[in-house]
This record gives sequence, structure tokens and C-alpha cells, in this order.
Amino acid sequence: MRNQLSILDVPVDVITMKETVQRVQDLYSEPGLHTVVTVNAEMVMRAQQDKELHDILKQADIAVPDGAGVLWAAEQLGKHVPERVAGCDLAVALLGEAAKHNTPVYFLGAAPGVAEQAVKNMEARHGSLKVVGIHSGFFDEQEEQRIIKTIEEGGTKLVLVALGVPKQEKWITSKLSHLSGVVAIGLGGSFDVMAGNVKRAPQWMQKNRLEWLYRLANQPQRIGRMMALPKFMWAVKKAKK
Ligand code: UDP
Repeated sequence: MRNQLSILDVPVDVITMKETVQRVQDLYSEPGLHTVVTVNAEMVMRAQQDKELHDILKQADIAVPDGAGVLWAAEQLGKHVPERVAGCDLAVALLGEAAKHNTPVYFLGAAPGVAEQAVKNMEARHGSLKVVGIHSGFFDEQEEQRIIKTIEEGGTKLVLVALGVPKQEKWITSKLSHLSGVVAIGLGGSFDVMAGNVKRAPQWMQKNRLEWLYRLANQPQRIGRMMALPKFMWAVKKAKK
């Protein structure tokens, strides 16, 4: 039985990083496509307006607590979530396992060249990876067909998709649902971080749930998107009443 909580009708698993990594390894040998979603405040607010995204989140095999807002909301509901399982950290951990077990991985997303650099950095960290293919997040229909064919024919087990929310979640569900024994994860801007183009907040800020502030200071153009956070807090408080 999954230990889950529901935040504004979006399910979130009460799960640690270690448990998530183990569960993903198990899913590689279970039939069907398995999806992992990384739930944060912005995504929960989007799902309130976007039924397709909301349904995808409800049907995910694993919904990890990606953002500090989710941990805060859990506390408001009187539940304890042991730790954040940030998408970027999860991807790094899964690639560590993939390097160990020679698991075939496909990388899709980000600007041209970014995923290639991310792979190089990950290989420097974990040793060589079995890379089935790499493609930027900008492609036409013909290229898309080739991407899907490569994923199918390369025996891919793990598909990392960094196209941003909700594009990546919808792409995975609409294009990969015929696959079996495959895990696909939407990772937002994680390839930019793995490639070293975008820096994560320092540990003390992450621990104090201030990663959002760091991102805002470094990418002030995100202010519009970040307004989702106070709206989310307001909605959670209201739902609690
Ligand atoms: N992106 C993409 N294709 C698109 C739109 C976006 O590959 O059509 C990429 C973009 O280059 C970036 C990522 O998707 O690497 C989205 O990053 P963002 O920081 O918005 O994601 P977050 O982590 O905030 O969800």
C-alpha cells in the first residue's frame, strides 16, 4: 500500500530518496509504462486549472515531494514527509544506479547541447552510462518519430524528459504509454543544472526551504511563475478550514 497524502486533490507519496530509487529499480521489471512526477507548489496550482495534467498526476506510479511548499503543506495537514525528493537530485541518484547496472537511459530535453553536457558531467561523477540517445527539447514531428523509435528499439529502461511542466508530463503520457518495463520522469530544468549552466541553491538555503528565493534572485524573470507559491499557501490554508 502506498503511503500518500493529498494536497489540493493532488496525491503525493510519503517516500524518501532511497525508497524512490529502489522503487524505480523495481519498476524496470514490471509491465507497462511507469511515470514518476515531481510535485511542487507550481505544479499543484497548475493542476487546479488543467484537468489533463491533474489526471496525469493522479495516475502517476510515484509522486515525489519535490518542493519545499509540498513539505509545508503536509505539515499544515498534520502529516510528516521525511524529506524533499527534488527531481534533480533524484535524476542524479538514478543515473548513479544506471551507471552501476548498465541500465539503458534516454535523455530528452533542454536547449541543444545541454543534455550532452549533462551526460558528460554525470559520467565524470558516476562512470560511464549506457546512453540510448540524447535529443534537445526542440524537435519537429519527424524528429519526434525518430526519438520515440530510438527509445523503443534501444531497450530503454529510464527516460528523462526535461521539457518543463506540463509539456513533459503530457508528452510522456501521450507518446510513451505503449512501452513496457520503462520508467519516464519529467525533470523541468534539471539538465541545465546537471550541465552546470544553472546553479542549485547552497545547502543551507535548501535546508531552510529557501531554494525558491535563490532561484528568484538569480532568475528574476521567474517572478510571475513564483506567484504560484503564495497562491498555493493561501489555497492550502483555505482548504484546511
Ligand atoms: N524546454 C524544452 N523544450 C521546450 C520548452 C522548454 O526542452 O519546448 C526546456 C528548457 O530549455 C528548460 C526546461 O525545459 O531546460 C524547463 O526548465 P524550467 O526551469 O522552466 O523548469 P522547472 O524546473 O522550473 O520545472
